[in-house]
Amino acid sequence: MLGKRHVYCLLIVFLAFFSVPMHSWANTELKQEGRFVDVGDGHWAKNEIDFLAHAQIINGYQVGQTSVFRPAQSVTRAEAAKMIVSALGQTEWKDGTLSFQDIPANHWARGWIARAVQLGIMGGDGTANFRPNDSLSRAEMSIVLVNAFSLPSKGAAVEAASVFKDTTGHWALAHINRLYYHGIANGRDGQFFPKDAISRAEFATLLARTINDQFRLPLPDLIEQGKTNIQGTVTTATLNVRQTPAATGVLVGTLQKGQVVDVYDLNGYWAKIAYNGQFAYVHKTYLKLRNIAGSPVKGRIIVVDAGHGGKDPGAMSGGANEKTIVLEVAKFVKEKLEKAGATVIMTRETDVYPTLQDRVNIAKNNYAEMFVSIHTNSATNTSAKGAEVYYDSSTNPNGEESKKLAQYIQEEIVRMANMVDRGVKNSGLYVLRNNSVTSVLVELGFISNAEDRAKLTSAEYQNLYAEAIYQGIVKYYTSQ
Ligand SMILES: [Zn+2]
Repeated sequence: MLGKRHVYCLLIVFLAFFSVPMHSWANTELKQEGRFVDVGDGHWAKNEIDFLAHAQIINGYQVGQTSVFRPAQSVTRAEAAKMIVSALGQTEWKDGTLSFQDIPANHWARGWIARAVQLGIMGGDGTANFRPNDSLSRAEMSIVLVNAFSLPSKGAAVEAASVFKDTTGHWALAHINRLYYHGIANGRDGQFFPKDAISRAEFATLLARTINDQFRLPLPDLIEQGKTNIQGTVTTATLNVRQTPAATGVLVGTLQKGQVVDVYDLNGYWAKIAYNGQFAYVHKTYLKLRNIAGSPVKGRIIVVDAGHGGKDPGAMSGGANEKTIVLEVAKFVKEKLEKAGATVIMTRETDVYPTLQDRVNIAKNNYAEMFVSIHTNSATNTSAKGAEVYYDSSTNPNGEESKKLAQYIQEEIVRMANMVDRGVKNSGLYVLRNNSVTSVLVELGFISNAEDRAKLTSAEYQNLYAEAIYQGIVKYYTSQ
């Protein structure tokens, strides 16, 4: 490997001697037509490469009549010197003195390297060599970019804490973090791969981001502004990522089950996420959304459905009726969720009867993210008692999530209201199978059983049932 510490020291020494116009290319118009036959319309770095080519920072290679860029090829140190010097608006230093043994007088990049060394952007390897044909590592690149373009610090504290799993204690940590906080580099899967060579396409992307704000990643700036308090975990096997918030939007990629994304905005059913350095959109039905600062339910849209109502009393026994009990409990649940910052939509707040389809529609029309229906059970055998929670995995695409929520709520009800545990059950109940979001139906207890009925009709227990449902929901959102 190269003598990186030496490069680093040289850079520090020279840093004071030059300053660079940061945004000299910011207003350059993008040229859309392709220049390189191997960087087609679908190439992920096409815009950045076109921009740099238009600005005459990169040239590619001439092969017969055509130009190629060789995007996947590693950037050599000589190539990096030329690109950076060009990007700074500087020229070759043809008469510059260079004492490196491995840069002969006729080396193609001699003038560029001489200028890079003069500007303090790059140095040798600590011996008498520059190693022009060695590939540039991602850590070296970080130092070169930060220093060449005098990227300002975002604060010592943020730069000292590793953003990536594989940069803790790394000699280039501060520079790597600085690129991250400027929206220039974001690694992959939480890692930065500092020792890896950087491809020409990757280098072009990072260089374009450095010199032109419009290519920057949205992520870090928004984190600084505190706008990324929502995280989403993908709940379906494959989730389409689209360029615009519409089912007809251009497909730009897919996310896999379990992947976690930062959500920047929610509009109707569409969640705005950062994807490959651009904003993109996914359907939020397939994201488990969670508030990460403060209560996890803050901002979540939850439908609380008190069963039955109006002409439909539900189960009746011993002078009590289901519709009245479940409305009381539903009101308590609403109060607790709202106190924690959730947006709660009730399917009914009085003694009226919405149809089952009305209840499903209320959830859909309000872009609900969770549906919780509250009921009491009944049986001809009056000894039957206890609580149970239903979910559906027959047609509800969030059956697995619904089951988790059912388990959390069941656990809390059994514990807090001291109910017999009848478990959670997979059942195609109408409001569960016709909703697409995480949905459960809670049977608090048996109105037909004297012991359960005493609890169900007690204001104290009604509040306890509600607390248990609320705690179950919070636990569901808190769990990863
Ligand atoms: Zn019922």
